[in-house]
Amino acid sequence: MPEKITVVGSINMDMVTSTGRMPEQGETILGEDFSVIPGGKGANQAVAAAKLGADVHFIGRVGSDVFGGRLITHMEEQGVSAEYLEQVPNESSGTASIILAEQDNRIIVVPGANNAVTPEVAAAHEDVIADSDILLLQLEIPVESVTKAAELAAAHGTTVILNPAPVQHLPKALLDNVDYFTPNEHELLHLFQNEADPSIYRSRCIMTKGADGVLFTQDNKEKHIPGYPVEPVDTTGAGDTFNGALAAALTRQYPLADACRWANAAAALSVQKIGAQGGMPGRQDVDVFLN
Ligand code: ATP
Repeated sequence: MPEKITVVGSINMDMVTSTGRMPEQGETILGEDFSVIPGGKGANQAVAAAKLGADVHFIGRVGSDVFGGRLITHMEEQGVSAEYLEQVPNESSGTASIILAEQDNRIIVVPGANNAVTPEVAAAHEDVIADSDILLLQLEIPVESVTKAAELAAAHGTTVILNPAPVQHLPKALLDNVDYFTPNEHELLHLFQNEADPSIYRSRCIMTKGADGVLFTQDNKEKHIPGYPVEPVDTTGAGDTFNGALAAALTRQYPLADACRWANAAAALSVQKIGAQGGMPGRQDVDVFLN
């Protein structure tokens, strides 16, 4: 059995409308295309790790609407255990309404049931977190719940990876329980803004730099693990693939530099296909790409 990764996080249904142009205020127009695609950072990262062969458990909440059951089935189909993904009565599932027009994108995210992933939900699954090798977190559920999950993981010796997106001010209680932060360049600028001594966290940062790969500090030396030169088609979810792959590689005991190299390769493969989850590679795809 592969080592276990638990994700406590968000899951959304993305509703994507493509149109030639944005409607004006009060105007109705005919669009070109519509699709409904599972997303949310938590779900994306869980799926990325599962596709790469990890044993992944997802702790989250969906609504009692038509999307709820569909999202649970989707996670199972992608190889993620949805035993702890429950429907909340009288609540809508998390949604992202996305309008793609030429040279203009507009997105409205409604967290819905993701807000029902409370600290109590995290606490109720202490045994699952304790029994995991890695806890993978993002910031699309209430920060108190992320803090609680990290605290439980730290108490049981489970390694914590936090992808600090969307970036916000984080309590010290959370910062102190994270083993690896994975901000992009913009997120890193804001992440430790309110801390008196950010340098104590910097050594735990793996900063992603898009096509340029990642930077981290080890033994007081900055290490650059370059990205792979590919022709990107859609970079949505590159960060999610990177995080899922990093977690999967670390459970396989890869040293950090090798884990980053492997995760760079997985993310480089993902940007060559359309869609966040649609482009995520399998383990063999990454191994073949690297050989
Ligand atoms: P997003 O929010 O778009 O999912 P992000 O801003 O969190 O992404 P990035 O730093 O853009 O994260 O990308 C994460 C990783 O994905 C990079 O470290 C790299 O490994 C890979 N990657 C991203 N863009 C490219 C690209 N154009 N070519 C190759 N690899 C890429």
